[in-house]
Amino acid sequence: MRNSRYFIPAWKIPYGRLTGDEHWSALKLPVEQIPCERCAASYLRKNKRQRFCETCRVTVLYEYKRSYAADYRRRFPEKAKLAVKMSWQKRHDYYLQASREYGRRYRRSVARVVIDHYSNGSFRCACCGESNLDFLAIDHINGGGIKERMALFGRPNTGGARFYNWLIKKGFPSGYQVLCANCNTSKGKHGTCVHQGARFEIKGTSCNH
Ligand SMILES: [Zn+2]
Ligand SMILES: [Zn+2]
Ligand SMILES: [Zn+2]
Repeated sequence: MRNSRYFIPAWKIPYGRLTGDEHWSALKLPVEQIPCERCAASYLRKNKRQRFCETCRVTVLYEYKRSYAADYRRRFPEKAKLAVKMSWQKRHDYYLQASREYGRRYRRSVARVVIDHYSNGSFRCACCGESNLDFLAIDHINGGGIKERMALFGRPNTGGARFYNWLIKKGFPSGYQVLCANCNTSKGKHGTCVHQGARFEIKGTSCNH
């Protein structure tokens, strides 16, 4: 340090003749462009103890914290495990709710992708034009949904995200359309939706809607 170009010996600082700010500005070391010890890019040093550029300073601190934590886990594995467990237990309700919310959002996003594709981006029921995403589902144009679900998942009532994921994985096979819950139910009963002219009769009265 004494050999440094910027080292100013105390006896050479003319503090006797300087006062206040003048004295401190005389003490200040000149800045210089030197390479960063991490990324080797040259940067403007703010003080002579700085070793890393402004970008690397943050990263170095982060790396140090990470390595310290890893070291701690290595030295006291039981303690570290317990700490994780305690923190999870402390906020159990929060994590439970967060994971539920995450699942809800994920399933909704998957449904959006599939319904977007099969409604050609209109997000509407192919029969009546219903546009609420909650009511929309994928319908097998030629029927056979239960059979297909039994073959795919071994259960007649597996729908939603699992089925949508399967559609995405298969690259959106044809033979499906978007229908709302009403039209889907009606089609299931009569073969076509009542909107399309299917009639059903109850004790002499006929209803077309
Ligand atoms: Zn750097
Ligand atoms: Zn509809
Ligand atoms: Zn309909």
